[in-house]
Amino acid sequence: MNILVINCGSSSLKYKLYNFSNQSLVAKGVINHIGEKNSSVKDHNQALKIAYKDLVGKKAIKNSKEIKGVGHRVVHGAEEFKQPCIINKKVVGKIKECIKLAPLHNPVNLAGIKAAQKLFPQAKHVAVFDTAFHQSIPDYAYFYGLPFAYYKKYRVRKYGFHGTSHQFIALKAAEELNKPLKSLKLITCHLGNGCSVSAVDRGKSVDTSMGFTPLEGLIMGTRCGDIDPALVLYLMRKEKLKDLQMDKILNKKSGLLGVSGVSNDYRLIKDAARRGNKRAKLALEMFIYRLKKYIGAYYFIMGGADAIILTAGIGENDKDLARRIKKAVKKIDSKIKVLTIPTDEESMIAHLTYQIIGGKK
Ligand code: ADP
Repeated sequence: MNILVINCGSSSLKYKLYNFSNQSLVAKGVINHIGEKNSSVKDHNQALKIAYKDLVGKKAIKNSKEIKGVGHRVVHGAEEFKQPCIINKKVVGKIKECIKLAPLHNPVNLAGIKAAQKLFPQAKHVAVFDTAFHQSIPDYAYFYGLPFAYYKKYRVRKYGFHGTSHQFIALKAAEELNKPLKSLKLITCHLGNGCSVSAVDRGKSVDTSMGFTPLEGLIMGTRCGDIDPALVLYLMRKEKLKDLQMDKILNKKSGLLGVSGVSNDYRLIKDAARRGNKRAKLALEMFIYRLKKYIGAYYFIMGGADAIILTAGIGENDKDLARRIKKAVKKIDSKIKVLTIPTDEESMIAHLTYQIIGGKK
């Protein structure tokens, strides 16, 4: 059975084709610059047609009927979606309702869904949400200390993101440790351009560092992570900033980039630190310190941990970071394992899609 996974960004469309008869990745590709000035690809509809031609050209499939299921990454499922689901009119309506919580992402995800439904009308389409895995977080962990009315009015609460990645590495960790996931306390760390940590207690997310938006938590490539909220007001007053300007500072100009003044790219910051750049060194220390702080908190709330899992660009590749986490862990509890596991969100989406449309696990 062929399952196609589609991941639409604002100007990109990534696709991967899996064959579940032999559990293999058959083909993959990415279309960039969608809708950009001077680009030949005007929208996600056209991008998907190019992807389809590529799959036929590579002889991965003969025609559109060979695709039995399409798994769509959808960023925000709010409280509506606690797990992946087959897409029908009602589901599309609910994803539309979530646009207010993810105005940049959900509309492009919907564009991908619409295009795929047109091109593969006979296939079952499944939505897999970044937020769904974190819907198991208890209320005392997802509420903010704000007037309760804002939750009722605007659904203001922690949602968390990167859920598919945290779920995938938790499952892989259980395989690697050769223990049932239901018996494990895991701290999963997704450290890429965006970064988040999750406490996964016996297979369920019980807390995560990102919040109402992906801005909360760790220091990231260009995002500040946790700060005193009063600082936002202070800076807006001092610098006479409008809300969109402040938003840009917090999301695009802060984090490793803002502190180091070098780059948002971890490797370049490390190079600069090696050459003696003090702010680059500071940015790296801040990054690791904040990560340790979250790991410590999640260790405590779960009453221990069996393993800490590192993944994504920084987590999978940076040996220094893994070494430092291992060293810090040893001082607390030498039984805790530190594992590096490559994430694969598309593979997780494909498996979830396969399960939902009636294939076996
Ligand atoms: P995204 O969140 O965009 O998918 P990635 O998971 O690819 O991002 O992670 C990007 C980050 O990973 C960048 O900061 C990059 O510098 C870092 N990275 C990639 N390779 C290495 C490496 N070998 N050592 C340290 N950091 C790395």
